[in-house]
This record gives sequence, structure tokens and C-alpha cells, in this order.
Amino acid sequence: MIHSIVFILITTAILRFSWKRYAQVYQAIKLGKPNWPEGSALVRFKNMLLFALGQRKMFTKPVSGIFHFFIYTAFLLTQVEFLEIFTDGLFGKHRLFANKIGFLYPLAINTIEILSLLALIATAVFLIRRNILKISRFHKPELKGWPFADANIILLGEIILVISIFMMNGADQYLQQLKPESYHPTGSFFLSASTTMPLISGLSADWIIFTERFFWWTHYLVVLGFIAYLPYSKHLHIFLAFPSSYYADLNPRGEIQNIPYIQNEVKGMLGLENDPSMEAPNNFGAQDVNELSQQILLQAFSCTECGRCTAVCPANITGKKLSPRKIVMDIRDRAEEVVQTKAFKKSEDGTTIEITDGLSLFDKISKEELYACTTCNACVEACPVLINPLKPILELRRYDILMNSGGPSEWLPMFNSLENNQAVWAMSENRTNWIKIE
Ligand code: SF4
Ligand code: SF4
Repeated sequence: MIHSIVFILITTAILRFSWKRYAQVYQAIKLGKPNWPEGSALVRFKNMLLFALGQRKMFTKPVSGIFHFFIYTAFLLTQVEFLEIFTDGLFGKHRLFANKIGFLYPLAINTIEILSLLALIATAVFLIRRNILKISRFHKPELKGWPFADANIILLGEIILVISIFMMNGADQYLQQLKPESYHPTGSFFLSASTTMPLISGLSADWIIFTERFFWWTHYLVVLGFIAYLPYSKHLHIFLAFPSSYYADLNPRGEIQNIPYIQNEVKGMLGLENDPSMEAPNNFGAQDVNELSQQILLQAFSCTECGRCTAVCPANITGKKLSPRKIVMDIRDRAEEVVQTKAFKKSEDGTTIEITDGLSLFDKISKEELYACTTCNACVEACPVLINPLKPILELRRYDILMNSGGPSEWLPMFNSLENNQAVWAMSENRTNWIKIE
């Protein structure tokens, strides 16, 4: 009884604490404009299954793809064991599922143990890759400090989880032989029986019970710790990759969305049918997170910080300041900053949001970064969770050019040509005459 009360109190306290933070993330995404991309729900659902659940793009790098798959599958399947721990804790029982599902129980636990061992190997490989081999995409300026520590914290947490599973199962099996009246038979768990069970076999019954309980609680508290920690971490993508890939753009990658008002104006200039009554919007592009779409903000919170986008970015490769990963991380940081400092207010009807701290995304992202982008879409192609880092870059650039008359001075002749000749080259409008058949 006391065990159940303590269990419920601890669980409620941690979930309550976590809830506040998840609510903040939700609020941060809601800062954006609700213009979600259109397209078939079926194709979106397929994308979600392929890219979020199926991890399809991870396998473009087979070695890291396989190790990532081990961790991911272990994460999914160990939830069965977690569910049992949770139910046992709630009702003050021990291995409640064992009696209910019969021969499936040892099958499930043995599968979990095998996957946990593979996940442990993968975790060690990832730690070595980051900290000893120092793979270059994990050592860019934007990954210094907290983002670098974040990845290591989760990997170390993963190791504690796996060790606690093996210790708990090993102790339990020993207790099944020692005290069958309290620890009912569950069938053999081969890996823990051959690794951790012999380790504790010299201990007294009391110490083995203590070991089982200690690692039972360790496992449970580490999982709860993960739940509380995720919204502070890049690992929030474990959840958000699903809605983010569902709402990914369905239009072809190279296609850049026009600004409807300007498109209408250009049509008029070219003598095509347009809508003369169309009113100009208050501003073009985006200066801050409230002018980006909720889709872009959701994507920013789904970023795994893997750096695959930066690794293929021609601007970054040739030594320019631009890193698409940094742009995405800056957007997330800015949205968090606005929500945490409550530096925003909603219009009375709740449709528009104004940011009140006098800062903007331009305080985090320099124009040098924005104008280094070649709009090649390589970052979009590389992203394993279908994030489009180019989209916010274009929005910020549009704001700078159309609202601030900014942009590199070298681009001015191009703008003049566009205005005078409707072409980026200084050529007259009859430049296409050569294709006419006489
Ligand atoms: S679109 Fe821009 S940010 Fe993305 S890879 Fe190309 S140059 Fe880099
Ligand atoms: S935007 Fe995509 S590719 Fe780039 S770091 Fe984030 S998850 Fe990785």
C-alpha cells in the first residue's frame, strides 16, 4: 500500500512538472501563423509511416542507420516492460503481466533483452563517434555547449536504462528460485540469466531483493526523467517527428512558393489576367517567429540536430557562415525565448500575435548567413525527418529585401532588371523572340 502511494505521488509530481513544459512548447508552436500546407491526407499519412515510424531516410547512411534502428526499436519495445512496471507500481503487484500472457511473457522479455543489448552496443558506438572520433558534423559551432551535452546525456541515460533492465531481470530470476512464493516463475530470460544473475548470486536474499527493487525504481525513474527532460532536449523529435512529417510539404522540393500579392502584380505588369482589387499585406516575409507558419515552428521543434543538412550545404562546405541546422535551432530558441519571457500578446480575436521584446530572429540569424544560401535544396533532401530549412531562410530574406530594402548590393542590378525587363538579365522583353517560328 505504502509503495503504491509513494509511486503515485512521485509519478504525479514528475508528470505535473513535465506538463508545464510541454504546454510551453505547444504555445511556442502556436506563436506562428496557422497556414498549414495543403495536400492529400493519405500521402501525408504514408510519409509519416515511412519517415517518422519507418526511419526511411536514416538508411541513406547504412551504418548509423542500423545502429539508430537498434536504439529506436529497443525504445519502442521496452515500453512493454515499462507498462508492466507502471501497472505493478500502481497496483502494488509484481510482474502482473507474467500470469496473464503465459508463454508470450518470456518471449517478450527475451526480445526486449536482445534489443536492449543491441541498443547498448549502438549507444557505445554513438558515444565513441561523438566524443572520440569527433565526426565533423557533431563539432560545428552551433553544437557547442548545451546541444552537445544534450546528446551525451540521453546516451548515458540509455546506458542506465539497459543496465537496470538486466540487473532487475537477473535479480528477479534468482529470487524466483530463492523465494518462489513471492517471486512467481516467469520462464527464463536468457541474457540476464547468463550475465547479471551470476553477478549477484553470492549475495544474501535481502540484498538481492534490494537489488531488484533498486533497479526497478532506477528504470522507472529514468523513464520518467526522460519524459520530463524531452521538451528541453532535441530528443523531443521522438514525438514531434510524427506530426512534423505528416505536415511536411508535398510540393516538389525545388518549387518556391510565390507571394500571392506580388504574383498578382507581376501578372498585371505582363498584361496577364490579374485581380486589381487585391490588397497589399501589411508586410512580406518574416521578421520573427510570429510571422513564420506554425508548420515551420513545429519543424524547428522536431529537429534532431543531426547536422545532415549542414554536412551537404554547399555554402557551409565552402566555408560560408551558413549552417541550415543553426537556422532551425535559432528558430526553436527564439520561439522558446518569446514564450518563456512572455514577450508576446494576442489580438482580441486571437488571430494575430505581436512580439513585444523589441528583438527578432535577425538578432540570432545574421544577414551574412541568409544571403549565403544558394536555394539548392540539398538540406531539404538530406533531412531525415522532412524538415525544410530553406523555407524560413526565404521568409527572412523576403522580409529583409521587401520591407527593409536590404539585400547584398551585388543583387541590385538583378532587381533593377527584374523590374524593368521582367528577367534577371538586363535584356529586353523580346529576348525570347528566337524561339518563334517564322
Ligand atoms: S538550400 Fe541553402 S541552406 Fe539549404 S543546402 Fe542549399 S545553400 Fe545550404
Ligand atoms: S534540419 Fe533535419 S537534417 Fe538538419 S539537423 Fe535538423 S533534423 Fe538534421
